[in-house]
Amino acid sequence: MDAATNSSLALITTIVGHSSFPLYAISIGAVVLAAISLRIGMAVGSRSQPVSNTIVVDEKEVLMDRMKVAEEIGHFGSFLWNFEHPDHSLWTEQVYALLDLDNQRVPPSPEEFLKYAIDADRAKATAAWERVKLSSGPFTFSFRAVSKLNRLMYLKVQGKMVPGKGKGPRLIEGVITDVTKEMEVDRAKSEFVSLASHQLKTPLTSIRWLSESLLKGTAGALAEQQEKYIATVLDSTRRMIEMVNDLLNVSRIETDTLAIRPEDIDVQALATSVIDEQRSVAEDKRLNLQVRYAENLPHLFADQKLVRIIFQNLISNAIKYTPENGTVICDVSLAEASKRALFLTVKDSGIGIPKEEQSRVFEKLHRASNAEKLVPDGTGLGLYLVKTIMDKVGGGITFESIPGEGTTFYVSIPTTWKSTADSPQS
Ligand code: ADP
Repeated sequence: MDAATNSSLALITTIVGHSSFPLYAISIGAVVLAAISLRIGMAVGSRSQPVSNTIVVDEKEVLMDRMKVAEEIGHFGSFLWNFEHPDHSLWTEQVYALLDLDNQRVPPSPEEFLKYAIDADRAKATAAWERVKLSSGPFTFSFRAVSKLNRLMYLKVQGKMVPGKGKGPRLIEGVITDVTKEMEVDRAKSEFVSLASHQLKTPLTSIRWLSESLLKGTAGALAEQQEKYIATVLDSTRRMIEMVNDLLNVSRIETDTLAIRPEDIDVQALATSVIDEQRSVAEDKRLNLQVRYAENLPHLFADQKLVRIIFQNLISNAIKYTPENGTVICDVSLAEASKRALFLTVKDSGIGIPKEEQSRVFEKLHRASNAEKLVPDGTGLGLYLVKTIMDKVGGGITFESIPGEGTTFYVSIPTTWKSTADSPQS
């Protein structure tokens, strides 16, 4: 048996000897088994029953062919990386094909593979890989890559880290899929949402402006009933503008055009102006709305629009999800230890978030069942936006919630933000 066959057998031992044995590992095993059977010209274990073993090999070859066709049609390839014995690692042909590479006996290491990421996505892909290495269990990450022949594509890496048990090696196994088409469709959708939201903003702004003028009596005194109707129009228009703004910001995130433009911000003035905007809604519900500032708060060097989104979403949620006569308290202070972050705490005595739904609170479009019942017309975009902004600027957000008693959100906002590339933003 030559060296390559030996190493292929070692790989089968690695795969089959492992406790978990997913479908793509079967495909890898099938690829290798079939390769070995071709190399040594006989079936595995053919010594005792040559006839039936020939059939076994045929089945494996059929399986291997099917898997190959499936990989081609689905634009994905399978991989297995063995940390202790890199020469027992494997890429199926389709992974090489995705990157326009020739097949090699030992595939490139994960670090070499990540070098195909485009410059703008390399740090993100490397950070994701570093997290995967420290974890166990399933993972997914994606990035834009350029093949050897300069084809730009979106790759999604999905897999599983298998910790070494007993004498078994530590492995990572999974599939790499070319998701360029899906990402293009997604991008087109985001661009459409962005365009539609832009178009909606102009008429909505004029409805708001005209309703405000009517309420001020600019066009003459209003009868009581007229005033009530116009106030409702104004209230609904404001909510629609908020929703359109959320949609616009989400589409900016998804088209990578959410630019960060830091400037000097008096955070106390900003928070006060957000609270003032929300005060009338809180008063309608007879809420006790308080805001407390620590002494000597420093100015932030941050993006005004984005900081406003953070305050606006957390405070308006607290007001929205707190029934009449409840309490909403905001605290703004400076992180004691480093003084490099501002702490915002928003505590309410509202409906809380059901335990089983707490893990999904930052997901795009997710709304908890009790929130949907109380306020049917939310978007489920606000917290997703806040979390995405915090991730982008190196801040953090967490919460505690007791259903029926209330929720507290804790946010740490870095005092100095880095500017990003000049992307178009209006
Ligand atoms: P929206 O408020 O438009 O539904 P968000 O993204 O702001 O969207 O919030 C997502 C979900 O998180 C809400 O639908 C609600 O279920 C939950 N949530 C957020 N803030 C609170 C809060 N202060 N109290 C109770 N539930 C909350």
